[in-house]
Amino acid sequence: MRDYKAPEHLLKEKVILVTGASDGIGKAAAKNYAKLGATVILHGRNTSKLESVYDEIVDAGYPQPAIIPLNLINASAEQCKSLAETIQQELGQLDGILHNAGMLGELSPIEFTPSESWHQIMQVNINAVYLLTHACLPLLRQSPNASLIMTSSSVGRKGRAFWGAYAVSKFAVEGFVQILADELDGSNIRVNAINPGATRTQMRAKAYPAEDRYRLVTPEEIMPIYEYLMGDDSLSINGQSFDAQ
Ligand code: NDP
Repeated sequence: MRDYKAPEHLLKEKVILVTGASDGIGKAAAKNYAKLGATVILHGRNTSKLESVYDEIVDAGYPQPAIIPLNLINASAEQCKSLAETIQQELGQLDGILHNAGMLGELSPIEFTPSESWHQIMQVNINAVYLLTHACLPLLRQSPNASLIMTSSSVGRKGRAFWGAYAVSKFAVEGFVQILADELDGSNIRVNAINPGATRTQMRAKAYPAEDRYRLVTPEEIMPIYEYLMGDDSLSINGQSFDAQ
C-alpha cells in the first residue's frame, strides 16, 4: 500500500473530516484528500492556521473546504454532537474521518507525570476519538461506504520508558479500532489504524530535539496509505493497523 497510486477522482463527492488539519500529517492529508476531489472539513484548535490551509486548498482549485474549530482538550459530548449536527446541516453527509489530532505532552517517567497532564493527553488522543466517532456514527451510517482512520504509533504496540500517557493512549487507539471494527463488520463503515512512523513534523521535533529532521520522511511522502484507506479501493479492509513507512 505504500506504493499505492490513487486514481485522480478517488474521493469525488465524498465529505471527509480531518482532525488536527492545521499542521503536520493532518494538513498534508487534508490537502491530498481535497486534491482527490473530497470536500474536506478542516478541524483544529487554531482558526488562523486552519484558514491558511483553507486558502491553500482554494488557491489550488480543489473543492471548497469547511472549517470547524474545536479544542479537543476540553471537548464535551455535547460539543461533538453539535459538530456532527453542523456537518449534517451544512454539508448533508459524512463519508470518512481521519482521526489525526494528537498531543505528545512531556516525556517523563510515570512516577513523575502530573495527573493533569495524564488526563489531557488521554482526552485529546483517545477520549476525543471516542466522542467524535460516537457523535458522527449516525451520519456515517447514511454514507454508501464510510471509512474511519485512527492514528496509532509504534509506542502504541510496544511500550517504551518515558512515553507514558501518550503511549497508553495509542495502545487504546489500537484497541478501539479492533473493537469498533468488529462491531461494524459487514456494515457500510470500516475502521483501520495507521502508524505514521518517524515523520518530519513539530511533534516529532519535540520528541527528538537533537535529531536531524531532514533525514525523516515528510508528511507528503506517507500519504499513499492515507489515500488508500480513505477511498473505495480499500472497501474490504477492516480492523487492521498499518505502518505508513
Ligand atoms: P503535529 O504536532 O504536527 O500536528 C498535530 C495536530 O493536532 C495539529 O493540527 C494540532 O493543532 C492538532 N491538535 C493538537 N492538540 C489539539 C487539541 N487539543 N485540539 C485540537 N487539535 C489539536 O503532529 P503530527 O502531524 O506529527 O501528528 C499527527 C498524528 O500522528 C498524531 O496523532 C501523532 O500522535 C501521530 N504520530 C506522529 C508521528 C511522527 O513522527 N510525526 C509518529 C507516530 C504517530 P495545532 O496546529 O493547533 O497545534
